[in-house]
Amino acid sequence: MSDLTHPPRFAVFGQPITHSLSPRIHRHFAQGLGIALDYQAIEAAPEQFPATLARFAEHGGVGANVTLPLKEQAAGLCLELSPAARRCGAVNTLVRRDDGWFGDNTDGIGLVRDLEVHLGLALSQRQVLLLGAGGAARGVVPALFEAGIAELVVANRSVERARALAHDLAACGPIQVCDWQELDQAGAFDLVLNATSAARQGVALALPPSLLTAESCAYDLSYGDSARPFMEWAMQHGAGRVSDGLGMLVEQAGQAFLVWHGLRPDSAATLAWLREP
Ligand code: NDP
Repeated sequence: MSDLTHPPRFAVFGQPITHSLSPRIHRHFAQGLGIALDYQAIEAAPEQFPATLARFAEHGGVGANVTLPLKEQAAGLCLELSPAARRCGAVNTLVRRDDGWFGDNTDGIGLVRDLEVHLGLALSQRQVLLLGAGGAARGVVPALFEAGIAELVVANRSVERARALAHDLAACGPIQVCDWQELDQAGAFDLVLNATSAARQGVALALPPSLLTAESCAYDLSYGDSARPFMEWAMQHGAGRVSDGLGMLVEQAGQAFLVWHGLRPDSAATLAWLREP
């Protein structure tokens, strides 16, 4: 049990990690619910991660988030995985049990909750375009189908990776692969998700305006400067709604908080606080 002098220990692991908003988000959740916790950001290179995580557990660590580039590695360090983590082969939430780590993945539910709760977008029967086929893209596909989307089209810089995603996740629902160069023939979508990391490398995505109508929602999974180019493109070409992925970040954290503490935090309050100028 926790007390105020020795609150339970949590952490986020990644590399780099200094930019992570997770400590601020979890402390804000905890403050709102009157829960004491110790949540730190811990830098770990992939080769150090197993030992760093073991040390964290030895020193009382009971839960952790995992971010780039450690999510797939974290799945391999778990004794048991949730269905969501097993499907995408990546873990962003760790729970310490007596015999080892339990791994979950809350990215998909985080995206769906942001779209439905904060942006008011009903996902049922929607046509969705997913740009990217990396870890984040894989993490959100099952949750999108569980939320009732009608069809998913995936386009990725390397089309082989999009094909692998469509193959591996075929049981979730109908997934079509589109060559990036043929996106101008793909028609318009209710929801266009950018799950690429192109902007982080300063690369602008070449996208045809025909993907969007005034009814479309364009959503970038990243936030801050990385989300700006895609959001500006979508606004210039008439998307009805445009959003970055800050709400997804808060909601995936909210789901992890629920797993650890059994309480759902006031994510809307935390999101509003993070967006304050
Ligand atoms: P990965 O490294 O696993 O995948 C990167 C993806 O971006 C791949 O599909 C890759 O294509 C594509 N890509 C990279 N560079 C380019 C480029 N120059 N042009 C076109 N496509 C490119 O990263 P993740 O999937 O883990 O993360 C993707 C994004 O999602 C990141 O920006 C991350 O911050 C964000 N994210 C946000 C979360 C949130 O809570 N809001 C949670 C998780 C991720 P290819 O296969 O051809 O290399």
